[in-house]
Amino acid sequence: MRAFENNIRKVEPYVPGEQPQNKVIKLNTNENPYPPSPKVTEALAKMDTDRFRLYPDPTCGPLVEALAEFYHVDRDQVFVGVGSDDVLSMCFLTFFNSKKPILFPDITYSFYKVWAELYRIPYECQRLDGNFRIVKEDYYKENGGIIFPNPNAPTAIYEELDFVEDIIRANPDVIVIVDEAYIDFAGRSALELIDKYENLIVVQTFSKARSMAGMRIGYAISNPVLIKYLNDAKYSFNSYTMNQAALVCGTEAVKDREYFEEGIRKIIETREWAKDRLARIGFICLDSSANFIFAMHPDYDAKELFEEMKANGIYVRYWGSERIEQYMRITIGTREEMEELFRFLEKYMGVK
Ligand code: PMP
Repeated sequence: MRAFENNIRKVEPYVPGEQPQNKVIKLNTNENPYPPSPKVTEALAKMDTDRFRLYPDPTCGPLVEALAEFYHVDRDQVFVGVGSDDVLSMCFLTFFNSKKPILFPDITYSFYKVWAELYRIPYECQRLDGNFRIVKEDYYKENGGIIFPNPNAPTAIYEELDFVEDIIRANPDVIVIVDEAYIDFAGRSALELIDKYENLIVVQTFSKARSMAGMRIGYAISNPVLIKYLNDAKYSFNSYTMNQAALVCGTEAVKDREYFEEGIRKIIETREWAKDRLARIGFICLDSSANFIFAMHPDYDAKELFEEMKANGIYVRYWGSERIEQYMRITIGTREEMEELFRFLEKYMGVK
């Protein structure tokens, strides 16, 4: 080993789901199967590319304002970034600087562990119970900060707001981040608690309900004090995080509430139908409140089924990691895509 190797920051990176370039039924990375709002398409067509000569607005002004209006908060309560991954990473860097371990579930978004390792933040995973539920009492001990998604991923299980509030209330001395990537398909958001708890940050994304994973837009909403700390870290890292196209398209997407709500309704409808269809062919599904379903079949090996599906052009996500070796995560596609999935599954299982 060369001497300089000692001084290199080594990380085991997060592994994103595959993005196959050929045409497949893509149910593997929780994207939205429907296009973004037509207002986004219009704005992009009209975009003045001469603006590309210039750096974008570092404050992301119009996008921040649109989000503030949508969520009935002040502009200084909103922080935007390049997908919620960027926002969450900034939150780790900014808020998790204790020597005590941060806490998050053992089965959850696998990026948390990667950021903790990258930034050298001590962490301790808290075991989900036998039904894959978060045990709130596990978060009542001394810690350096808390993060969990609600609904959790990849389980898709949503915990009621009272449950979330109990965790926030029990931890006034640390920052609690609620990662709400999938909240639009679920229930009440922790945004309702923003004014009540000064240690709360809520993070959401345009990648799921707003159909814009490719534009990379995420945001945090909190009180002005914590948002200022986040911005200070951001401006010390990269002032121009959001590109001009993302700023314009994101702003238009937020303004189209009707399209947003209609898209959510369609996904939920397909999800409930798909849960029922899966159950009818013997799958055991965790109760999903997201745009995906975490499922296992007692009679079929998940890895074999996953590989067979892939060979047939149907991509879902499979990890094979401890406790979830027999589970796969299926993103909700269009009704037609889901019909294709069921045609395949029924054939595979010899269902008449
Ligand atoms: N949080 C959770 C729980 C997720 O599943 C994802 C999607 N991979 C993200 C955050 C990040 O999404 P994005 O960066 O596209 O906003």
